[in-house]
Amino acid sequence: MNEITRQLRERAKQLLQEGTVDCVIGYAQGSVPMQEQPFFAYTPEEADKLVWTGFCTNNLANFLIKRSGKNAVVAQGCVSRNIVGLIKENQVQRENVYILGVHSPGMIDAHKVQNHFPGKTIVQVEEDGKDIVVQGMDFEERLPRKKFKRDNCFTCTHRNAVLYDEFIGEEGPQTGGGKIDNVAAPWEKLDSDQRWEAFEQTFKDCIRCYACRNVCPLCYCDVCFVDENNPQWVGKSLHEPDVYTFHILRAFHCAGRCTDCGACESACPVGIKMRRLTSKIEKDIRQLYGYQPGLDLETPAPLSLYQPNDPDVAE
Ligand code: SF4
Ligand code: SF4
Ligand code: SF4
Repeated sequence: MNEITRQLRERAKQLLQEGTVDCVIGYAQGSVPMQEQPFFAYTPEEADKLVWTGFCTNNLANFLIKRSGKNAVVAQGCVSRNIVGLIKENQVQRENVYILGVHSPGMIDAHKVQNHFPGKTIVQVEEDGKDIVVQGMDFEERLPRKKFKRDNCFTCTHRNAVLYDEFIGEEGPQTGGGKIDNVAAPWEKLDSDQRWEAFEQTFKDCIRCYACRNVCPLCYCDVCFVDENNPQWVGKSLHEPDVYTFHILRAFHCAGRCTDCGACESACPVGIKMRRLTSKIEKDIRQLYGYQPGLDLETPAPLSLYQPNDPDVAE
């Protein structure tokens, strides 16, 4: 058991024992390798199932929406930024959430690890310092952790929780070292035909399972636009125009709100890189408005702000 897991369990037990919170939302070991799952500890005994590993890829901010009682939640940088966003959007009350801040070393991309062993079944993956140790039915291999990190974790700018009630473990380096603009930039260099071709290539395998939407804390509408029947904004088929419309509209719904947490890409069963859209929008919002979502509770999100003296407001 790593030190953060140990401390997390200890604090979760105390918080539940003393009645500070009704539930601690964290992660438990998954039933398959590399898929830690969201876990709700309601009793001190259940707190013993909590873990903190490089496979904690679900965004737990998602589970705070419309929850009753007081909940503690484990939050690294991106998740804490989404919690800030949800508080600003009145989906979460600050007094009802107890944030157990953590530093994230960057999460591991299960798709990358699996792709390294094509056709083989992985039965166990363990972290060991800067390496991961992958075991299969008939093999064991040690791989450098850094090479298998998720793309968004390479370009992360806030690995420590930005808002918390207490911090578990030590704060660590804030950045992943990579530049997010290098993710978004390739789109800008293409002419419109090439850009469309690249877009089609990126999204052609989408099966519209909506896992990307369901894991995203930004998608909390009671009825998502893709599920509306009256009016029906977008067809429900796997025909290309329907699939592409879903992705383009969802990306715009995330504008100025997406923290680049990567949960959507981690959840996709077919490995779609939908951050190629959202990261470009993130860059535009940052450059046009100097705004990064979820860094504080005060600064209004640019696209939710009306100013009568805006030069673009019609007379
Ligand atoms: S985006 Fe940043 S804070 Fe979030 S999991 Fe990756 S490295 Fe950690
Ligand atoms: S998770 Fe992947 S396959 Fe499912 S709707 Fe999203 S992009 Fe499409
Ligand atoms: S769109 Fe994807 S990267 Fe952005 S907040 Fe939602 S799950 Fe995270």
